[in-house]
Amino acid sequence: MKILQPSWAWTPEGILEDPVVTLDDGYILGCSTSARHPGEHVERLPGCLLLPGLVNAHSHAFQRAFRGHVQNRDAARGDFWTWREAMYRVAGALDPDQLGAVCRLAFLEMVESGVTEVGEFHYLHRDPAGRVYADPDLLAHVVIDAARAVGLRITLLRVAYHRAGPGEALRPEQARFRADTPDEVLAAVARLSAHPDPHVRAGLAPHSIRAVPPAWLPELATYDGIVHAHVAEQPAEVAACERESGCSPLRLLADAGLVTDRFGAVHLTFPSPGDVDVLAGAGGTIVVCPTTELDLGDGFLPVEARQRCNLALGSDSHATIDLWHEARTLELHGRALANRRHVITPPDDDAGLAARILRAATADGARCLGSRAGEIRAGAPADLVAIDLGDVAAAGMPPLEAAAFAAHPGWVRRVWVGGEPVVRDGRHADHDRIVADAVRVIRAVV
Ligand SMILES: [Zn+2]
Repeated sequence: MKILQPSWAWTPEGILEDPVVTLDDGYILGCSTSARHPGEHVERLPGCLLLPGLVNAHSHAFQRAFRGHVQNRDAARGDFWTWREAMYRVAGALDPDQLGAVCRLAFLEMVESGVTEVGEFHYLHRDPAGRVYADPDLLAHVVIDAARAVGLRITLLRVAYHRAGPGEALRPEQARFRADTPDEVLAAVARLSAHPDPHVRAGLAPHSIRAVPPAWLPELATYDGIVHAHVAEQPAEVAACERESGCSPLRLLADAGLVTDRFGAVHLTFPSPGDVDVLAGAGGTIVVCPTTELDLGDGFLPVEARQRCNLALGSDSHATIDLWHEARTLELHGRALANRRHVITPPDDDAGLAARILRAATADGARCLGSRAGEIRAGAPADLVAIDLGDVAAAGMPPLEAAAFAAHPGWVRRVWVGGEPVVRDGRHADHDRIVADAVRVIRAVV
């Protein structure tokens, strides 16, 4: 048994002062203010706020390789589609070892910034020529192993990708993403779901309606686990779906039976009329990726969607990895759109804005990955982050408001996943080696 004594803990009931949080066998046993527990297993965290670990619900870890290499040159004059050409060059260049090194860097940055769980939307399956590896799941295992090497919990969302767009065959630079049948994808998800590590889960990810033929959707909808898809990220993709199927991408997915409370609609930046009703009615989640959407010039999720749907967060292309910032921009971008304050909190939500922001980064993100983590309560996995409120930027702030409105990765002191410490004093034990390996790869391929 392990006992944590921070100065504050954020629980579903609110902030507890001087709490005692007990952990056992990877889970939270309890959290109370009733007693102090002196002894050798006690870890005191004075000045720290203990929170559930952050959940990064949408990641393409390999894209960390070209951070800083597309913001200032080629893509600077372009848009999502020109950025995608740069991304394809990197996706086509990485061998399995290089992919592992870049993924470890992305996942290292996540855990050191307070993330304990990632939803990895994984679409590199084949070799650069489009041939299946001897182990067809080789690259999925490379990504899973990279997450586990830094101690991160992972849901591998195995992507289905079959075409370049309606009526268009895959382009050569998309050969690594290819699946030939829905059955091939479902079989891969089933194999990955049998992973022996309890910190590893799998789910299904029809990449987008531009990449998956409508005829595949009914078979994919037979899957009864977590399903995520890019939805309405770009106006051109919505228009192409209207032309091909006569409805919006979300409506097409819903009509096939894919939009349920297990569904994560990534982006939904351009919902069509009725889409928000469909998603909210099904209990699905919008996975918003604010810094990527800004970096690509995509646009903003409409205010109504922010208010009415479950919200989770992703750092997606990893232009930055800072879930604290992603979380508060849910509200700040809403204010910029609405020209008023307090935008995302529904009128019947008594917990307040700070809690709504932090829930998107924790419990609601976990739920959309099928995880039981994301809250400090008895029985939940002990995925936790302690942030130091001694920073000058937190001076005078109430703890919960400090976490929601001012926190950044530099405040992270300690991180635990399944009760195991993975970050101490803000650093992972393998930090230097992971960074050096990745920098060598990035210099070679980008
Ligand atoms: Zn994405």
